[in-house]
Amino acid sequence: MRKKIIAGNWKMNKTPKEALELVDLLKSKVDTDKSDVVFCVPFVDLIPVAEALKGTNIAVGAQNMHFQNSGAYTGEVSADMLLDIGVKYVIIGHSERRQYFNETDETVNKKVLKAIEKGLIPIVCVGESLEQREKNVTVDFVRIQVKSAFKDVTSEQAKGVVLAYEPIWAIGTGITATSEQAEEVCAAIRKTVAEIYDQSVADEIRIQYGGSVNGSNAGELFGMADIDGGLVGGASLKEDFESIVNY
Ligand code: PEP
Repeated sequence: MRKKIIAGNWKMNKTPKEALELVDLLKSKVDTDKSDVVFCVPFVDLIPVAEALKGTNIAVGAQNMHFQNSGAYTGEVSADMLLDIGVKYVIIGHSERRQYFNETDETVNKKVLKAIEKGLIPIVCVGESLEQREKNVTVDFVRIQVKSAFKDVTSEQAKGVVLAYEPIWAIGTGITATSEQAEEVCAAIRKTVAEIYDQSVADEIRIQYGGSVNGSNAGELFGMADIDGGLVGGASLKEDFESIVNY
């Protein structure tokens, strides 16, 4: 039985002071028995948020990292830096990073390998554009993204990775994929994992849905057979996140 995992992606929102206010509001309210809960916060919020979450079962996640260990990469943050401050998860390959910051399938794979090597849990984002959905190439496209992300990842390592299916047309738009649309692609992703590895890895790996999840649609989406929780943007910045986690 896979435990659900619900992660908030705060994106570039909340100063450290504002972050602490939100953590204070949510930390005693979210149910961490039913689901693993992660707050993926901006880099500057990681230290105070990790401190504020001590003694809870809510984990802290970053939204990106570099694939090199250290060195002359101005503006970047390494896996060791994240680990040193208590970060457990890292989002890799979010569509906004692919779109605005030249993240490619190749860099996503490098980051996945580095995160795993260092002991961080990657939350790897995949998903199609509206144009791709309209051209009926969604599953083909997502399969390529999944296969690239797992290049050189062993089956034992793959089990611990979290995948997030996030159709780009549903992110931040208020348009949610129907539970059938989301399930269809999440099931195809699981099948792809079974093809790369075997059924036992596919049965164990957790696949989230992301794209305008809110308190009203979370229950139906997370109730689908191949959807193991959600990656939540906008609604993770509000008290509403409580109703998503406690769906
Ligand atoms: C996201 O940023 O990963 C996301 C799914 O955003 P939203 O929930 O706002 O659509």
